[in-house]
Amino acid sequence: MSAKIIDGKALAATVRGKVADHVTRLTADHGITPGLAVVLVGEDPASQVYVRSKGKQTIEAGMKSVEHKLDADTSEADLLAVVAELNADPTIHGILVQLPLPKHLNEDLVINAIDPAKDVDGFHISNVGLLATGQKSMVPCTPLGCLMMLREHHGSLSGLNAVVIGRSNIVGKPMAQLLLGDSCTVTIAHSRTKDLPEVVRRADIVVAAVGRPEMVPGDWIAPGATVIDVGINRIERDGKNRLVGDVDFESAAAVAGAITPVPGGVGPMTIACLLANTLTACCRSNGLPEPEGLTA
Ligand code: NAD
Repeated sequence: MSAKIIDGKALAATVRGKVADHVTRLTADHGITPGLAVVLVGEDPASQVYVRSKGKQTIEAGMKSVEHKLDADTSEADLLAVVAELNADPTIHGILVQLPLPKHLNEDLVINAIDPAKDVDGFHISNVGLLATGQKSMVPCTPLGCLMMLREHHGSLSGLNAVVIGRSNIVGKPMAQLLLGDSCTVTIAHSRTKDLPEVVRRADIVVAAVGRPEMVPGDWIAPGATVIDVGINRIERDGKNRLVGDVDFESAAAVAGAITPVPGGVGPMTIACLLANTLTACCRSNGLPEPEGLTA
């Protein structure tokens, strides 16, 4: 293996530390404590794990954490009422509705009911538009975490060829916007892309966000390229359950210049960026300077 491992766990700890320091100052100097509310509808086991972890890390950062757990058969009206209540609550600066929602609920409608200034997931249509037009917005947590890792490794990303594999609204598209914002030349590849291996071979930066275990082999990667693996896939190998990314780590690490592992890469950065976004939202709503290095 020749690639440098980009340690998301370590960088996430640094980000959480910066957030906690800023929160301490905010509380001491202004008597303000940032508050994050997470709304979980139903009992999806993976979502329950995420929500627990978010709540724990929010409290560890010195912030207020509120959880609203609603039954799987909650009506849209009742869910919208909870969102409205949180929108109006001055002690809550960030609202996150855990996705996916049960099928009878309209995700777009619910997300767009969140006050855009409190939309710490960055999925509200206003934030999507602000990001696309290069204006100050709330930035989706996973792509923000990827951007922080890339900046940490490269310094400037200006002029680099970046290929994002996947065009989802939560990862692929905002990732491409952020890379464009940092002056990369960006290609978005997806399931219909012709000759994907050749497209990926042109990249200085590859961000894989597909959801297919180990789909990207090392011989697609240009020597020295930086690989950010967003994929989280559960597979069974040698009779054991394992987590793997969208990139075949072993063969890719043999050619890449730097690579994120799974687990321990993008995953920990996502929650760290949720805390950073909550702090940013709190500072903005109080007209205070934003923390440095924690936004796009
Ligand atoms: P998604 O299913 O919404 O989107 C997948 C994208 O991959 C689609 O745009 C599709 O066009 C593309 N795609 C599918 N098959 C392809 C192929 N053969 N070749 C090229 N592109 C193809 O998924 P998502 O929500 O963007 O998530 C992607 C992965 O990232 C999943 O494994 C998910 O679990 C993971 N994820 C991780 C984090 C984290 O915190 N680390 C956060 C969000 C998502």
